[in-house]
Amino acid sequence: MSIKLKNVNKIYKTGNVETYALKNVSLEIKDGEFIVILGASGSGKSTLLNVTSGLDNPSSGEIIFNDEIISNHSSKELTKFRRDNLAFIFQQYNLLQNLTVKENVEIGASIGKNPFNIDEIIEKVGLEDKKDSYPSQLSGGQQQRVSIARSVAKNPNIMFCDEPTGALDEETGKQVLDIIQKMNEEFKTTTVVITHNPNIAFMADRVIKMNSGKIEEIVKNQCKKNAF
Ligand code: ADP
Ligand code: ADP
Repeated sequence: MSIKLKNVNKIYKTGNVETYALKNVSLEIKDGEFIVILGASGSGKSTLLNVTSGLDNPSSGEIIFNDEIISNHSSKELTKFRRDNLAFIFQQYNLLQNLTVKENVEIGASIGKNPFNIDEIIEKVGLEDKKDSYPSQLSGGQQQRVSIARSVAKNPNIMFCDEPTGALDEETGKQVLDIIQKMNEEFKTTTVVITHNPNIAFMADRVIKMNSGKIEEIVKNQCKKNAF
């Protein structure tokens, strides 16, 4: 699924203070593309992701998925759109503690119209021997892999990740990113990843650098074969 942003602005008002978190942002993300968003803290990365994914409304401008203008949707329509099409991965794993790995992934799959096979997804994230374990019995990296399996089990059209490795050490973080990349390659899921870590930029087709609410630069990955 492709994403288009046209002249998107986001202004937060807190009392008399206005923060221009996104300033006239326009962007096209192609179906199946892997995008990494880099930028300093406060540059507007989370706002860009939240507004693009319909978690938050833009102050003005249009957001279009394929040919569907979602920025005009009611909140009920948006909820349905998100449920049918989008998956989210955050720094926090948000797993249900009293359910096993398999049961957590089953919940994710149950939301989808055309979900993947649960055992296959658990195998893809390398946790086949942990299927019956509970989250408290897993390391942080393993829990994040369960969280990814749960998110993608519904077979989403787009995967949005906000600092997915923020709580992990470098090596574990790399393993988690490898899995996100594998999902993008195998399922052609359009993928948008926010990170502070410039070292993961090589995984992307294109890297977007945010600065003070604007796209400062878009860099195409010259090293990646068949980059968009
Ligand atoms: P990043 O993800 O790059 O750290 P954010 O998108 O979180 O940046 O924030 C961009 C700007 O918008 C910052 O100045 C931040 O303080 C402000 N901001 C973000 N969310 C809110 C909010 N809910 N209310 C007011 N200001 C906000
Ligand atoms: P930051 O980017 O400032 O470190 P977080 O990573 O905690 O903050 O969250 C990034 C954004 O994602 C925030 O705007 C937050 O509201 C949103 N968010 C975080 N977790 C969830 C969740 N489980 N469901 C929906 N939105 C979430």
